[in-house]
Amino acid sequence: MTRRVVLLGSALLLLAACSSTTSGGATTSSTTLTAIVTTTTAAPSTTLAPTTTAAPTTTAPPPTTLPPTTVAATSPPTTAAVAGNDFLGEETIGLSAQGRPITVSHRGTAGGTVILVVGVIHGNESAGLAILDDLRTMPLPPGIDLWLMPTINPDGLANDERHNGNGVDLNRNFPHDWTQVAQPGDWEYSGTGPASEPETQAFIAFADRIQPHLTLWYHQDLHRVSPSNRKDGPLRKQYAQLTGLDYVSVTGGTYTGVAATWVRQTMPSSMSFIAELGPTLSADEALVHANAVLTIAVMSQSIA
Ligand SMILES: [Zn+2]
Repeated sequence: MTRRVVLLGSALLLLAACSSTTSGGATTSSTTLTAIVTTTTAAPSTTLAPTTTAAPTTTAPPPTTLPPTTVAATSPPTTAAVAGNDFLGEETIGLSAQGRPITVSHRGTAGGTVILVVGVIHGNESAGLAILDDLRTMPLPPGIDLWLMPTINPDGLANDERHNGNGVDLNRNFPHDWTQVAQPGDWEYSGTGPASEPETQAFIAFADRIQPHLTLWYHQDLHRVSPSNRKDGPLRKQYAQLTGLDYVSVTGGTYTGVAATWVRQTMPSSMSFIAELGPTLSADEALVHANAVLTIAVMSQSIA
């Protein structure tokens, strides 16, 4: 809290905060990511789990505590996924500079309104992962074709580091309005050219393919959504109202090669904006955000 007050006092510090070590719990993030990846295989294996445990467990007294635990642990996600019956798949859209997979999961109504949510682009700003975790299993409104990308920057996430494995700020590397920013080692280093990084290239190919109607990007920790007078303005405002984020501009940096801007400038029918979370995000807050995503997803259906 103190930090936020200080941050609000100075635009320069605000950006420094966004750049610096918002530790955000890289460990937790990795766990979450693992869980996401693992769940793809959960569906087939779940049928095996009860069968495997059932036979030996019943006769053995000590394991009596195990069966409920095991069942309880595996059942909820599986049940939710099956209940929704809307899991459409998971895929790797490319590899990071250090060879890590960039994964997306897909659920909802295929052919519906395409919504893309990116949990992490600056690897040391990982609070958004918890929101994506909720979005994986909660019931979706009709007509929503939801793509979840836990991170476009798996190197940064693994290293608890803003940049990708090449030391590039991916959010300065996109080919709209790209300019050379800073030098290797600097926090806003833009890379050697527009879309020089494999993560940027993978995202561009993916976005070209799915043509998202609305793309949401999570950052930390300025606790705000920037107002806009473009068509996505009402969505931004609604999102801020629903989540308690401030509805205030982010200023003071060099905003070239920004991913969210590339999406909306390159795909004219596409809306795209950034939600700057606070320094931390509780489980309850993550759920509020996940619900807000779905609310504005529905709102976006009436915006051409
Ligand atoms: Zn950021």
